[in-house]
Amino acid sequence: MRKIQMVDLNGQYQGIKEEVNSSIQEILENTSFINGPKVHEFQKNLENYLNVKHVIPCANGTDALQIAMMGLGLKPGDEVITADFTFAATVEVIALLQLTPVLVDVYPDTFNIDIEAIKKAITPKTKAIVPVHLFGQSAQMEAIMEIANEHNLYVIEDNAQGIGANYTFSNGTKVKTGAIGHIASTSFFPSKNLGCYGDGGAIFTNDDDLAHTIRGIVNHGMYERYHHDVVGVNSRLDSIQAAVLNTKLPHLDAYNNARKQAAAKYDRAFKGQENIITPFRSGADDNHVFHQYTLKIKNVDRDALAKHLNDRGIPCGIYYPIPLHKQKAYMDERYNEADFTVTNQLVKEVISLPMHTELDDQQIEYITSTIINFINA
Ligand SMILES: *Cc1c(COP(=O)(O)O)cnc(C)c1O
Repeated sequence: MRKIQMVDLNGQYQGIKEEVNSSIQEILENTSFINGPKVHEFQKNLENYLNVKHVIPCANGTDALQIAMMGLGLKPGDEVITADFTFAATVEVIALLQLTPVLVDVYPDTFNIDIEAIKKAITPKTKAIVPVHLFGQSAQMEAIMEIANEHNLYVIEDNAQGIGANYTFSNGTKVKTGAIGHIASTSFFPSKNLGCYGDGGAIFTNDDDLAHTIRGIVNHGMYERYHHDVVGVNSRLDSIQAAVLNTKLPHLDAYNNARKQAAAKYDRAFKGQENIITPFRSGADDNHVFHQYTLKIKNVDRDALAKHLNDRGIPCGIYYPIPLHKQKAYMDERYNEADFTVTNQLVKEVISLPMHTELDDQQIEYITSTIINFINA
């Protein structure tokens, strides 16, 4: 059996080696390292794929979130509602901009932001909601957009884990995640569903004025050379990363399908196991692209299971072990533990299994039987 990895980047590379190598070689030869034609080409291709009017590439997913918030003109003291159960980047940029993060609980089945909790958290100071399409499953965007419209709030989708997923509206319309809110961010970190070979990120929007504002912000606030109209940042996707992404983009649907197939095999193997709760699908099959395959473990010590797996050559991840509202940097006396019962429970139960495009049946069989034997021992 091949060595099991949490993410098999080399295995995936072997399948596209010639294409990727020649696209990188091209950049080396023409030395268009920054703002080269490949960046623009990738931007156009991603706009087409997502069916969104504007993609603005940038340096990473955290920058993308920060720049999105800067572009919306959010001001110190504005409240931004986001999920307690997510990667820290989401809340970090809110705090960095001196906005006030308002963390709320998530659903126990999808792990995505709880609609009732959002409603409860809205105050006259609330300016934006940041849903995260956690682990690759779209959040409940229809309800979120309704609340936002009703209260005149911006919706910033954190699509770092959800690229390629659809959201299906109740009338059956399908829209790609990241093309629904006022603005969205994504990350091309190597392990993400569309990953480059370094750091990368992008912002998406259908709003022409906002896109214009953001194109200046990513470039030192310049709209005309050496005229700095607003305070900006330096955040660029470099041409070598754009070349890698441009090569991988046509494979994204196949990559996401490979993930979904691996997820379906895990599901089948765990069927009937009372203490293993497999990932819940909230909507149509294409609403989940399995950035992570995350189980909930009941009545068994989750950390002991993780150690058992690691001892047997099976990597696994605890995403996330501590709720954001309990992190030193983000504690706030306004928070009430009773409002975070789901997140407080999830951090004890979740375990994410190896998930990537190259998992084979033998590996899945070894992983699932090792887990089942431990749980029933
Ligand atoms: C990865 C990730 C980010 C940050 O992306 P980077 O490119 O690493 O800065 C933000 N939000 C979520 C939910 C992520 O998973």
